[in-house]
Amino acid sequence: MDYQTDMFSIINNKNEIPDKHIPKGVKLKKREMWCPYCSKPVMFIKDKAHGVKRCPYCNISDKDYYVKMVNRNWF
Ligand SMILES: [Zn+2]
Repeated sequence: MDYQTDMFSIINNKNEIPDKHIPKGVKLKKREMWCPYCSKPVMFIKDKAHGVKRCPYCNISDKDYYVKMVNRNWF
């Protein structure tokens, strides 16, 4: 697991402690994922330069440990 440090993570407001589970009662639509840092469902946007998808709000990539963890049931 490699962690990325990017400047955006400093600029944006993110949860200090990312969600570890999608809250009960939340139903994601097709192609939506739960952003554990924004605590909301988002459509991750393709970042062609880096070959990943990113949350449009906090810019976290889908390679992030917690993004994977919280969304693992949905893949
Ligand atoms: Zn986010």
